[in-house]
Parts: sequence; C-alpha cells; structure tokens
Amino acid sequence: MHSNIKLGKISGIEIGLHYSWFIIAALIAFSLSEHFRQVNRNWGTSQIWIVALLTAVLFFVTLLLHELSHSLVAQARGLKVTAITLFALGGVSQIESDAPDAKTEFWVAIAGPIASLIIGFGCLALAVGLGWQRPGEPRTGPTSVLVWLGYINVALGAFNLIPGFPLDGGRVLRSIVWAITKNADRSTRIAARIGQVVAFLFIFDGIWQFFSGAGFGGLWIAFIGWFLMDAAKSSYAQVEITAAFRGVRVSELMSRHCVTVNCSTSLQEFVDTCLLTTGQRCFAVVDQDRLAGLITPRDVGAIPRESWDSTTVGEAMRPLEELHIITPDTPVLDALRLMAGKDVNQLPVVANGSLQGIVSRSELMQVLHARSELQLPVAHHPNRGQVTAR
Ligand SMILES: [Zn+2]
Repeated sequence: MHSNIKLGKISGIEIGLHYSWFIIAALIAFSLSEHFRQVNRNWGTSQIWIVALLTAVLFFVTLLLHELSHSLVAQARGLKVTAITLFALGGVSQIESDAPDAKTEFWVAIAGPIASLIIGFGCLALAVGLGWQRPGEPRTGPTSVLVWLGYINVALGAFNLIPGFPLDGGRVLRSIVWAITKNADRSTRIAARIGQVVAFLFIFDGIWQFFSGAGFGGLWIAFIGWFLMDAAKSSYAQVEITAAFRGVRVSELMSRHCVTVNCSTSLQEFVDTCLLTTGQRCFAVVDQDRLAGLITPRDVGAIPRESWDSTTVGEAMRPLEELHIITPDTPVLDALRLMAGKDVNQLPVVANGSLQGIVSRSELMQVLHARSELQLPVAHHPNRGQVTAR
C-alpha cells in the first residue's frame, strides 16, 4: 500500500494518503450529514455540512493517532518505521523489520488499541462535560462531533483487540504465546489457529443472526469473519514457508538443468523444439554464451502467431536489464519476497555474468509440499548438475 498524497513527516515517519481514502471520507461525511439532518431538525444546511465534514476529518486524525502509537512504540524499541498510509479501511504502518522479541511485539501491537480506547472514552467524557445527556442524541455541534468520534474509537479499539490475525489482538495473543513457548514460529501457528476459531465464531454468529431476522447486520458480521478466516490462513501459510526456508540458500534449491536457447532462433522453431517438447516453463536466452534474457510461454503468447516465423527469441524475450537477478548465495526467503514484490514467477541465478540456474516459485512450493508430506526439513544437498546448452 503506497500513499499517493504526502502530508508531511512526524518523527521521521512519512505520513500519506491513498486515493481510496477520499471515497470513504466522502461516504462518512454524506451518511453523517443525513444522520444530523434527521436528528437535529433545527440545524441549517451549512451547519450540518460543517459538522459532518469536521467529524470525517477528525475521524482520520484519530486513525492516524492509532497508527502513530504503533509506530512510535516500534521506534522507541529500536525498529525502523518508514511510513504511515491512511486508506479506505484504516491505516498501515510500514515497519521495516519484525519484532525481535515477544515484549516488543506485545507493546507495539497493543499501543494502537490503547490509543483508540483512550481517545474514545476521552471524547465521550468531554461530550458529557459539555452537556451531553447519555444515552440520548447530542444536540449541539461540538457534542455531536465528540459523541460520534467517541463511539467509533471505542468500537475500533475493541474490534482491534479481537484475537485474530492480522488484527492487533492477534499480534498481542501471538506475543503472549511467544513469551510462554519461547518459540516465534510456534506462537504464530497457535495464534493463527485461534484466529481461525474466532473467525469461525463470527461467521456462525453472523449467519445465525441473519436467519433470526437481523438481516444485513448479520451478513456484515459473517463477512468480517470470512475476512479474518482468510487472513489467519495466509499468516499460517506464511509461517510454514518462513520456517521451512530459513537459512536455506538459492544454490541449494535452484534448478540447474536449465535449457538455453540462442537469441537468433525464430519463435516458431523455439516453440516446436523447446516449448512443446520439454515441459519447462522458463528458458534462458543466450547470446554468444552470455545470458541475454529469459523467455516464458507468457512472452511468446504476447506475439501474434503469424509473426512467430519472422520474430526471433531475442526480440520476444525479457532482456537481462529488465530481470531481477540473484546470486547463488541469496537466501531463498529473499528470493520469494522479490518474486512476490515484482510479480514474477522465476528468477535467474547469476554468478560472474554466467547463468547458474533458475529458481521458480512453483518449484519452491513443490519442495515445501514434498517436505511436509515426508515431515522432513528442506534438503540441504544441492543437486549436482550442469546447465545444459541447446
Ligand atoms: Zn492497530
């Protein structure tokens, strides 16, 4: 999530807005103005809009305070925070590294909900001080703003404490399990499993309420449950991958039997003799024994079929300059992160300008699959083969 509009820096942290923020801010302002129109019939149009817009803006200020609490605690405990981005569904803090210990994880995670709860109860108390009669509808502009902000922040703080990844509560739970078990991977697995149970309860409760006549509200709860379920599953998968490949280098798992093709070969010949006969998905293109680029079925598909005879592999390939190259010493986890970040499925492994092999996401996942089937650690014996020239 990258910000489109930069607002400035706080404590060295870049604060930004994503475009989607404007959509949700407008929605909040519209629904608030409609609400104020109905409950305060003596208010003029301009008063309604000023209060509605002010509430919407202040809501995002309180969201920013929630994120800042995470970030500032992270900074205080030595983690590097680069940016906070506000978007349609809230905010994200870009914290460069994972928490090194359970205590740090706990304080960074709980700082946000604590901030929201303090802001929420503070706003409600201030509203009471300004003459708001609980639990009735506030009558003045300032109390209307404060009561709405108060309730939404208390709800936000409480919602974020639900022990399901990736909510703050999931991280708090993980840090507690981590402190008890002294095992970071195991604590993530346990926290993710508990997150799935919580998510299931949400879905069950939502569907139950829907059939008991709660209508849309019930479906909304079920939807939140489904979102939590999905998030818990992916964090579980993530920890499996991290645990399996920790400390493993690309050279141990790359495929060395990489078929190469000369850049002057025509696409038609390449398709007939390589693509359709080897079952491989990725081919190294060489120009006088030097790696020039990679070609995959995707690149071939981008060229119209009638031009395959007149186009060379060199023209259709992705040239070396556009590829992200790794060395045999690159950790597998870094390679996976790079593939995900650049949205590619394979990376050429190059040492001293010559191709050593190729790592592909699907092959790494197969290694992971084989490992979990046999309940073994990832093999540490590199397959000794040579790049086969063609
Ligand atoms: Zn948070």
